[in-house]
Amino acid sequence: LLSVRSLRKVFGSRRSGDGLVAVDDVSFDLPQGGSLAIVGESGSGKTTTARIVAGLETATGGEILLDGRPIAGSRSRRGGHGIQMVFQDPFGSLDPRQKVGNAISEILAVRHTRAERRAQVLKLLSEVGLDERHAGEYPANLSGGQRQRVAIARALAQQPRVLILDEAVSALDVSVQAQVLNLLIDLRARLGISYLFVSHDLAVVRQVSDHCLVMQHGRVVEHGATGEVLDHPQDRYTRLLLDAVP
Ligand code: ATP
Repeated sequence: LLSVRSLRKVFGSRRSGDGLVAVDDVSFDLPQGGSLAIVGESGSGKTTTARIVAGLETATGGEILLDGRPIAGSRSRRGGHGIQMVFQDPFGSLDPRQKVGNAISEILAVRHTRAERRAQVLKLLSEVGLDERHAGEYPANLSGGQRQRVAIARALAQQPRVLILDEAVSALDVSVQAQVLNLLIDLRARLGISYLFVSHDLAVVRQVSDHCLVMQHGRVVEHGATGEVLDHPQDRYTRLLLDAVP
């Protein structure tokens, strides 16, 4: 489904020796219905990789293919390109002055009638375990877990094939985290959506991903089945990451 080849991102000057190499020769594949986690310490290049794949940042080099076709630069990809991103802080993507129902409905195609849009909003809310009552609320009146569900509903409104979650549950309490993770697992099973899961939390990664990619200083140091990587790390850095978990 999604294929990332030799991705590279240099911030600052592009001349060799200049600028900061945030992503260096990163390659991976994400099959239809698959889930891949990108793990690594802060600053390892996870977010930059995710943002490039989501079309929010342009790459310095490399290629991203969706169904074998290269996807073009960020501007032409806005909306309807099949890849959506959900961030750590749902407040960042939700307008505090906008009720939840409107926040979702504004994403739906304009060709829908009012009644159709309303029905669609309720369907999306129910997909993420919310209902009509939440549609009339402002984001500030929802819990963190509920706001993250709204952010996921907004992403689903664009009918993505790939959902990118960047530390999407990191700010939530552990019990709420579990609920949102279960929702994601359920959506993947029901809708066949593929996930790219950026996280520093190895327990979360173990729960949600089939495969994982370990990044250090912009490079991939290990890549394989999640259980295999976490139970039998081959790379010294991966072992250090695992040892750091209490
Ligand atoms: P975190 O978990 O803290 O977000 P990360 O692994 O996602 O870390 P990135 O955010 O991708 O790492 O950052 C990789 C490197 O690129 C870091 O050294 C960071 O300072 C740098 N960087 C990220 N965004 C920019 C930018 N817009 N301009 C310049 N440098 C940047």
